[in-house]
Amino acid sequence: MIAPRQRPQLPWRRALIIGLGASGRDAARLLRLHGCELHVYDRSAHAAAPDGALAFLGEQAPPPAAFAGVDLIVLSPGVPPAAHRRLAQEFAPDAQIHGEMSLALAIARGTWPALPTVLITGTNGKSTVTALTGALLASGGLRPFVGGNLGTTLSSALSELLTAGAQPPGALVLECSSFQLETMHERGVHPTDVAMVLNLTPDHIDRYDSMERYADAKARVFVGLRDHGLALLDAHDPWTPYFQRTIERGRLLLVDALEGAQIRGDGPGDALRLPDGDTYPRDLLGLAGRHNSKNALFALAAARHLGVGHGACEAGLRGFRGLPHRMTLVRELEQVRYYNDSKATNVASVLASLDGFDRPVVLLAGGRAKGDDLSPLRDLLARQGRALVAIGESAESFAQLAEGVVPVTRAASMAEAVERARALARPGDAVVLSPACASYDWFKSYSERGDTFSRLVADLV
Ligand code: ADP
Repeated sequence: MIAPRQRPQLPWRRALIIGLGASGRDAARLLRLHGCELHVYDRSAHAAAPDGALAFLGEQAPPPAAFAGVDLIVLSPGVPPAAHRRLAQEFAPDAQIHGEMSLALAIARGTWPALPTVLITGTNGKSTVTALTGALLASGGLRPFVGGNLGTTLSSALSELLTAGAQPPGALVLECSSFQLETMHERGVHPTDVAMVLNLTPDHIDRYDSMERYADAKARVFVGLRDHGLALLDAHDPWTPYFQRTIERGRLLLVDALEGAQIRGDGPGDALRLPDGDTYPRDLLGLAGRHNSKNALFALAAARHLGVGHGACEAGLRGFRGLPHRMTLVRELEQVRYYNDSKATNVASVLASLDGFDRPVVLLAGGRAKGDDLSPLRDLLARQGRALVAIGESAESFAQLAEGVVPVTRAASMAEAVERARALARPGDAVVLSPACASYDWFKSYSERGDTFSRLVADLV
């Protein structure tokens, strides 16, 4: 255990945490371990306030007293930022504003200024690239912390380190959501070695006024890039020129999966080729689809920049098993394959998952709508669909979309959806849960949705 006096002194004395979700609580714990006084606010009167904190719970907004003497404000990703920033401006104009991630990064920077850092964002593929980059760095012996928006928050990891006195990580690989990036506002908040935007398609358009504002939040990922850092963008993404203009430092590399991996991008003989010619056999990577070739190129470019050798990258690719709920084969029954792609929560990710898929698909789609334009799914169904099973709150929109293209059926529960899909599928087909929607209508999370589907499929007799 590190003695309190050995802990780095923080520049803040009293913090107000706005929003007591998991990330707010993790930030609170980290600040507390550094001896910071805490005020906490949550709209819910039942939120669990951390021990020793002065709590302001159950009001529509934090009252002026919550801001008294506060020199740090931590905004949770889930709270509307504009309204709280206005209150902060009024009642604590000198306080610094952070999110959980930017706060943890600032503290990590104070403790280990040279820690290699990779920041990963984009609409789709973040978790896959984050996990794969982590696997490549681990294969190269770097002992990275891998998390952020995915898995463990950095605050929680730092708290564990402080209390257990464990070895610091050799690198940080952080998945960043656009909400987390919104609060990474201070220039160079943490020097970044590699920063990337994988792609940009409409998502969270309920939170942003326009695609440009959504892009601007994502572009913050490049703000702390070191002079010799590496910025990565997709050569073929229509938003790449927009992002390119925001990069002020470092070297820019455009990842080109089409040039690097020919044809479908994951066939035998295909290659993953980085712009400097460094090449890996595509079949080392056990994840199907051209989008995963691209994901792998982003991860490889990051790992090579941090000095991981070619052989270690090969071993890392070979050992990577992918993440659950992303085109995971659940089982094969009566020559029908069942895939759980519950993580496909927007239209673009469904298109990526099924792009070039080699079997007719009975698609289970629908859920809590996110305002995406569904029409591209019509072409997909016309090309590759056997049938559509429409589920969740938005079932009707999906059913209308597919009407006249493929047979359509509606299901009032996941159990019913699985039964109907089974009846519609023919030998050689695939049944794919790839909902293009959030899960919150029927489930707590995409993972609960995927687990439910997988369990029901496993129970089929
Ligand atoms: P995120 O963390 O950004 O949500 P994931 O790695 O969890 O991304 O992948 C979610 C889904 O997005 C996958 O199931 C797949 O359908 C799709 N996807 C993954 N990578 C890409 C990519 N590079 N481009 C487009 N879609 C992708």
